[in-house]
Amino acid sequence: MIPFIDLQAQRLRLGGKIEAAVAEAVVGGAWVMGPQVRQFETDLAAFGQAKHALGCANGTDALALPLMAWGIGRGDAVFVPSFTFAATAEVVPWFDAEPVFVDVDEKTYNMSPAALEAAIDGVKAEGRLVPRVVIAVDLFGQPADYPAIKAICDKHGLKLISDSAQGFGCTVDGAHPLKWADVTTTSFFPAKPLGCYGDGGAVLTDDDELAQLMDSIRVHGKAVAVDLKDRTFDHDPKYLNMRIGLNSRLDTIQAAVLIEKLKVFGQEIEWRNAAAARYNEGLRPHVSAVPDVPAGNVSNWAQYTIEHPDRDGLAAHLRAQDIPTAVYYPIPLHLQPAYEHYPRGAGGLPVTERLKDVVISLPMHADLDEATQHRIVTAVAAYKG
Ligand SMILES: *Cc1c(COP(=O)(O)O)cnc(C)c1O
Repeated sequence: MIPFIDLQAQRLRLGGKIEAAVAEAVVGGAWVMGPQVRQFETDLAAFGQAKHALGCANGTDALALPLMAWGIGRGDAVFVPSFTFAATAEVVPWFDAEPVFVDVDEKTYNMSPAALEAAIDGVKAEGRLVPRVVIAVDLFGQPADYPAIKAICDKHGLKLISDSAQGFGCTVDGAHPLKWADVTTTSFFPAKPLGCYGDGGAVLTDDDELAQLMDSIRVHGKAVAVDLKDRTFDHDPKYLNMRIGLNSRLDTIQAAVLIEKLKVFGQEIEWRNAAAARYNEGLRPHVSAVPDVPAGNVSNWAQYTIEHPDRDGLAAHLRAQDIPTAVYYPIPLHLQPAYEHYPRGAGGLPVTERLKDVVISLPMHADLDEATQHRIVTAVAAYKG
């Protein structure tokens, strides 16, 4: 079987650097939030054009940190796409707030600004919930339409989170989503474009106070500088608990892995773009749609996803030739048992409900070579359904 995401090829390409970094972290002995975590946070902030980057336990907690810092709770509406991984919406009911599901754009699969506007107007007209936050997702690696979404957030006084768990490293006209968002969140789950060797996540922000609050919340609500400015505490401020927090730290070993992987991440995004261009060229005549990346956007190609009228037949045909595929996402969140009772934007989610039956993702990773791609393209082209 061809690998769907070949992380062993990446490990071998890095020639023992990761193993050496892990061994050094083990010997160093500061296994949680050690010096490699600080180093990685500095490197990550520089890469992401952010003032602050903070590691945390995973990409789900990364979404919870700003919601907690802003005091999101009962009666609050958080606008999210339904065509995304569950974590995007899951964190909202943690705090008794409600996710409001918004449809996506036909071409980019990302939150539709028009559908967002309609959803906000609907929530306001109903009057039951107060609009507070928008979580835009960079689905499959492509940036959401941040200029349009940010304008809507400003008009309605809403905070904006960019859930870049898949899209970290993507840009709009050369700028990372944080140019528009209050905070960018990401995941270092191994299969994500920038993955570690276990679970990990991070938040990035230019907002000094938000950074401090999230730093506090990730360590059980410990006291941070803003808390101590008008009071004294003679002991370690981590034992002065100012607010309810989490245990959401990044492991030192994971930071050590990530320091090495971040060094080559920019190059890998270029390789992924080259692979995507080869796929587009070979597949365009044979499928209903190849991915559409508007001018000015750079995707990191977390997934390479096409549309095909007989997606399941194509998957079986490819599997018989040892070519794996995946379907993201066969059941959008607003149709899931855990989420179906939450509100939907005005007009429903017709695009999301169409996409769920036609999308299929092909192998994609930085080490995907031309010969393997040729084999995949030829196999797709040969499928006559
Ligand atoms: C993976 C993912 C997350 C959650 O990340 P974890 O590290 O697995 O908790 C959140 N949002 C999106 C869009 C994701 O793809």
